[in-house]
Amino acid sequence: GLLPGWDRVDEHVAAAYERSRENHDGVVADYIPALAAVDPALFGVSVIEVDGGTHVAGDADVAFSVQSISKAFVYALVCEELGHDAVRERVGVNNTGLAFNSVVAIELNDGHPMNPMVNAGALATTAMVPGSPDEQWDAIHAGLSRFAGRTLVLDEEVYASEVRTNQRNRAIARLLESYGRIQTDPARVVDTYTRQCSLLVTARDLAVMGATLADGGVNPVTGERVVSPAVCRDTLAVLAANGLYERSGEWLFEIGLPGKSGVAGGIVTIAPGKAGIGTFAPRLDAAGNSVRGQRATAYLSRVLGLNVFASA
Ligand code: GLN
Repeated sequence: GLLPGWDRVDEHVAAAYERSRENHDGVVADYIPALAAVDPALFGVSVIEVDGGTHVAGDADVAFSVQSISKAFVYALVCEELGHDAVRERVGVNNTGLAFNSVVAIELNDGHPMNPMVNAGALATTAMVPGSPDEQWDAIHAGLSRFAGRTLVLDEEVYASEVRTNQRNRAIARLLESYGRIQTDPARVVDTYTRQCSLLVTARDLAVMGATLADGGVNPVTGERVVSPAVCRDTLAVLAANGLYERSGEWLFEIGLPGKSGVAGGIVTIAPGKAGIGTFAPRLDAAGNSVRGQRATAYLSRVLGLNVFASA
């Protein structure tokens, strides 16, 4: 063990679960109709260390759609393909201070999507994956599966539900096209983005995916290299600034780690060089971030001494 308390991670994960389970704040997302049907009582917590050590509590093996958490891993894959500068120029790295699906943010910034963790920037990032739309989807599906260490499956019901209701994302993609930020068919870009959001993961999968970013790009369970250490560094910087949307500053202040949330209730958190944390709990705060997931992760960061800004 590298850290004080590192020999008691099972105990700490169980305590994070028990303490956060008492919280019933927040509401399940319902703007995607299929998400409204989920059991709000579900709650899972997992920590995977960079040496593969695995710790779980609660519903850590219940599947849910990855949603916006896909943005972090697609961004890493695009950085791996195209490099630091290309992605920074096209998509940016700065927080919008506005909601994840804001149209105003695009207009306020002369058509710039601002960062890859809001819908505009994620659509622009997905559009940058090399190849035809089918090749783009295959690369995203295979890449996210390598991060997870298993072949991820698409939730057809969530996908169909979002296809019927994602007029706003289609509008964002069209707007980006008008500014030259998407140079392929925007309808296909939205479709690929909607698919990537509909991939099913568990809290345990998220912890493995996070541990891969914590481990310089090597999946600690499969031993496979997925991306380079430089790409992990860049991705974690972007997550620190933008991973929890307009609440990213509060998250960083309380937890001190890069993380990424999704509206189905997942959060992935990365302790560089140490571990990945995955949580799942569907009730969300006003920004779309899981309430119990934030609490459980804050607890783990504190008891495991993971805050990257702490000297001791
Ligand atoms: N698929 C969702 C959307 O585009 C993802 C949003 C999220 O998880 N915040 O609206």
